[in-house]
Amino acid sequence: MDSSHPSQQQAETRLVTSGRDTKAQKGFVNPPVFHGSTVLYPTAEDLHAHRGEFTYGRHGSPTTKAFQETLMALEGPQCAGVGIVPSGLSAISTTLLSVLKAGDHLLVCDNVYRPSRNFCNGMLTRYGIETTYFDPLIGAGIDKLLKPNTRAVLVEAPGSQSFEMPDIRAIAEVAHGRGALVIDDNTWATPLYHRSLEQGVDISMQAATKYIGGHSDIMFGTISANAKAWPMVAEGIRLLGVCAGPDDVFLALRGLRTLSVRLAQHHRSGLDMARWLAARPEVARVLHPALETDPGHAIWKRDFTGASGLFSIVLKPAPQKAVDTMLDTLKLFGMGFSWGGFESLVIPFDCDAYRTATKWAPGGPTLRLHIGLESVDDLKADLDRGFAALKAAM
Ligand SMILES: *Cc1c(COP(=O)(O)O)cnc(C)c1O
Repeated sequence: MDSSHPSQQQAETRLVTSGRDTKAQKGFVNPPVFHGSTVLYPTAEDLHAHRGEFTYGRHGSPTTKAFQETLMALEGPQCAGVGIVPSGLSAISTTLLSVLKAGDHLLVCDNVYRPSRNFCNGMLTRYGIETTYFDPLIGAGIDKLLKPNTRAVLVEAPGSQSFEMPDIRAIAEVAHGRGALVIDDNTWATPLYHRSLEQGVDISMQAATKYIGGHSDIMFGTISANAKAWPMVAEGIRLLGVCAGPDDVFLALRGLRTLSVRLAQHHRSGLDMARWLAARPEVARVLHPALETDPGHAIWKRDFTGASGLFSIVLKPAPQKAVDTMLDTLKLFGMGFSWGGFESLVIPFDCDAYRTATKWAPGGPTLRLHIGLESVDDLKADLDRGFAALKAAM
């Protein structure tokens, strides 16, 4: 095996070496940040033909090219292109607008990121596209929901609050048989731990705001597509005019370079904390597909090579006021949305308010935790204090 050829290298190596053009960068390892809209053409003939490696700021720069090449190398040989958009939600909306048209039908997983749902119910409805939500555990049973005009199926594995694990391979087999595209929100695992384009997914999106950026300092989204879907995505991006600012592209590339070490630590610390929480008397259930006891574990083991640091817990019944007292006591777990950065976070959540295809009845208050890069001993001590406050407030 010739390990000097990128296709023979492990993902960790490709993350570090791909997209580097040190000669063009006068020897520097990293590309510069190109703050640019206008690109000058040397001759009128070049201008008429839009000839040149770079033609206009919106269409890309050496920095976006380096990012795209690196993410493509990580996604694997099925990836025909990577689109860059200004946020994770924009990756979802841009993808759906690129592949759907008036009169189409869309199937969406009931555990999907809530703003994805708002986009379908809001804008897509106005444009004459019908959405049906389905049980994330439906598997091949999705056959019954496909209509002649079903154009795409949107999945999220696992759902980023409730952590059910859809069987994407089974869903994709049925969907492809009926001519529908499969779109995956791959934010939780990233293509480092879930190579969804190799498992039947046509378009794999990420909120790169999360683990790719990795430092809670950018908004960024990516759309990776196979050869069948990429022309539609590329056209959608061009027609809609979406792009990202050069500093954010640079930071996203910098994040990619260290993704493997950060994610490995989030995996280890997350599982350690999940096991510790599962043994606590205050906790009824831990929702984490990498735990052997989780209902989604077999699918996780088959399709994923790692887990990230995001999971949820179901507490034994307690009044909301006591849970709030617990949250206010925590010092290392900050309260805030998003995740994937270096810091630990906690939020209470309730899926019951918006689910339509499935009933959400966990039997107690639910908290979503992001395990950051702090010491797990310190995080356990923080939660110990929180649980003591919870008990005292009951
Ligand atoms: C955060 C998130 C998004 C949206 O990303 P933004 O960059 O915040 O727009 C999409 N999907 C999932 C699963 C997310 O967690």
